[in-house]
Amino acid sequence: MDEFELIQNYFNWPLIDPTVELGIGDDAAIFNLDTGYQLVTTTDTLSEGVHFFKDDSPENVAYKSLAVNLSDIAAMGAIAKWFTLAITLPKVDEIWLKKFSESLKETSSKYNVSLIGGDTTRGSLNITITMMGVVEKSKAIKRSGANNGDNIYISGEIGDAALCLKKINEGERPDKAEMVKLNRPIPRLDLGYALNGVASSCIDISDGLEQDLSHIMKASKVGAIIDVQKLPLSQSVVKYIEGNNDWSVPLCGGDDYELCFTAPKNFNSKIINIAKSCKIRITKIGVISDSKNLKIKGYDGHGESYKHF
Ligand SMILES: [Mg+2]
Repeated sequence: MDEFELIQNYFNWPLIDPTVELGIGDDAAIFNLDTGYQLVTTTDTLSEGVHFFKDDSPENVAYKSLAVNLSDIAAMGAIAKWFTLAITLPKVDEIWLKKFSESLKETSSKYNVSLIGGDTTRGSLNITITMMGVVEKSKAIKRSGANNGDNIYISGEIGDAALCLKKINEGERPDKAEMVKLNRPIPRLDLGYALNGVASSCIDISDGLEQDLSHIMKASKVGAIIDVQKLPLSQSVVKYIEGNNDWSVPLCGGDDYELCFTAPKNFNSKIINIAKSCKIRITKIGVISDSKNLKIKGYDGHGESYKHF
C-alpha cells in the first residue's frame, strides 16, 4: 500500500463541517474563518516509548493524541475546529491502522473537529497532531492575565494519571478506572469555553500542577499560595497519600489534562455556576500573590514535575 492509498483507506472520511472548503487531497487545506474571530493553533507529538507504551492499544493512542491537543485549545478558551495528522509508522500494519483510524474518527466526531490534512512517513511510531480552533478576537485566555488576589481553581481531580503510571512502572496492576484516567483524559472544552471572559489566566495540567501553575506565575509576573489539603483528589489518590505521605503524585504528576485557572475573587459565584452548567467539579486551591514565589502549604518540596529533556 502506498502513502496515497493509506490516506484514502484510513484517513479520508467525509467531512460535514461547512467551514472546510477543501480538505484532504490537495497541496493544502482551505477553511473559512468567521470575521471577528482569531485562529488558535497548537501542536503535540506522542512518541512510542516516551508518551505511550509499545503495547498500548491503537484506539487509546489515537484518542489520547487528539485529546491532549484538544486540551490545549480548551485552555485558551477557544472552540476546537480542525486538525492535521502527521503519522510516522514503522510499517503498514492494516489491523493497527484500522483500529487507530476508527478511534480517531470517532473521537473527532465526538468533539466536532475535522481532519483536514497531514503527512505519513516511515520511522518509529510517532503521532503529531496540529489542532486549530477559533476564538472571538482578543478573547483568548492567556497564561499572562493572573492578578494579585485572584483565586486559583482546578477542574476535576488530579494525580490519578500519575498514580496509574507509577503503578505500571513499579510492576503493579492499576485497576480499570485508573487506566481510563491515564489513557482517556477528558479535554475540558466546555469548561474552557465557559471560562472565556471569566478566567484571568488558564493552563491545562499536562506536566504537573506545580510546574504548570509556575508557567502562569511566570507569564503573569505574580506568585501563588496553594494548600495541599484543598487539592481535589480521588479515593485512590487519598489512599495512596495516607499510606506514603507522597504529595508529589497530585502536585508533580502530569497527564491529567485538567484546567488550572485564575479568576478575580468577585467571580466566585460565576465559577460555581459554570461548574454546575458544565457538570464538572471545580475546586479553589489557593490565591495569587505578589511574591513571585509558589508557596505550597503542607508540602516540604520533594518531587519534580515532568521534564521533557
Ligand atoms: Mg498545554
